[in-house]
Amino acid sequence: MNQTGKTISYDDTAIVIGIPFDDHSSFLKGASKGPKAIRNALYSESTNLATESGLDLGSNDKWQDMGDIEVTDTATAFDQIESHFNGLRKRGLRIVTLGGDHSITLPIVRSYSRSLEKLDILQLDAHPDLYDELDGNRESHGCPFARIMEEDLVDRLVQVGIRTMNPHQQKQSDRFRTEIIPMKSWHSDMNFEFNNPVYLSIDMDCLDPAFAPGISHYEPGGFTPRDVITMIQEVKGPIVGADIVELNPDRDRHGMTASIGAKFLKEILDRLING
Ligand code: MN
Ligand code: MN
Repeated sequence: MNQTGKTISYDDTAIVIGIPFDDHSSFLKGASKGPKAIRNALYSESTNLATESGLDLGSNDKWQDMGDIEVTDTATAFDQIESHFNGLRKRGLRIVTLGGDHSITLPIVRSYSRSLEKLDILQLDAHPDLYDELDGNRESHGCPFARIMEEDLVDRLVQVGIRTMNPHQQKQSDRFRTEIIPMKSWHSDMNFEFNNPVYLSIDMDCLDPAFAPGISHYEPGGFTPRDVITMIQEVKGPIVGADIVELNPDRDRHGMTASIGAKFLKEILDRLING
């Protein structure tokens, strides 16, 4: 934990930011188009901006879409993202980030950890993303949670929906003491509870590809959209930030996966606004 960090008071505005960055995708590019696709779905005339609690985000001034962070090059990308977030966190803002590949969670969590005494993460993902390196890249989207744990940025990392655990990543999970809820053991009445501020990281491939074809890594046997919506609505703890990553619009059909991303975004904003 960052001993020099201090707990800052929360501004009550929630911020939406896009990071169109997929330089650390290992298999297919396309996640950089995620923010645009989610916004298209969010603001589409086919639906409205109401959340399931009845909050109308269209007439609510407790949130703001601040557009995208345009990262200029791969080598300094994480530093650029982190310093941008440091500026927002200094103002106490809580941010929902639209990715982008999952590598962006590392610089975001570095910034959060700088501004909070304690932080936990709830990660929904088919993959643990705990590789020490992937294809020689330690910044790969297969590695962010290994770096987060090595750097001691969080107290708890709870990884839910995992269904690709291999021996190397199991060793990493044991070493870092991450809390794994494999997909095969998950059931819908599980309750997730956090005492520290909690950061929610949603990799869209946590969903079953039958519902969400717009992703790069198909891993059948995942969540329904309703499973994830219920977890967003019912997780206990003060949510201070979130990301929705790994949407790949090149693989999507009729924007159906993007519309799920927009739905998750609305329900996360509802939690940030209503508690
Ligand atoms: Mn994944
Ligand atoms: Mn991931």
